[in-house]
Amino acid sequence: MKKEIKRLPETYLQEAKKMVLKHKKKKKCNKCFDRGYLGITEENMLIPCTHCIDSKSLFDEWKAYVKTIPELSELYGDSLEEKEEEKEEKKEFKKEKKNWE
Ligand SMILES: [Zn+2]
Repeated sequence: MKKEIKRLPETYLQEAKKMVLKHKKKKKCNKCFDRGYLGITEENMLIPCTHCIDSKSLFDEWKAYVKTIPELSELYGDSLEEKEEEKEEKKEFKKEKKNWE
């Protein structure tokens, strides 16, 4: 049996397309023809153009956006949350280490 793919609903894909453009570092880009993305994955997610998009700030905004939409939180919340917690743990560890030194 084929693995079920979590597909992004079309409405949010449109939002993602708008969001991508806010994180463009260059105005003219002939890699993505100024669209800001190179294509769409089978999960219906955009592939941001590595040439002209600040993918870190884009991902941060996307994460914040997902949190505000229950439907999206359900689809992706868990995986995003895990990453966040991991980071927090590492920070805590560093703090503790400092205290011991
Ligand atoms: Zn580009």
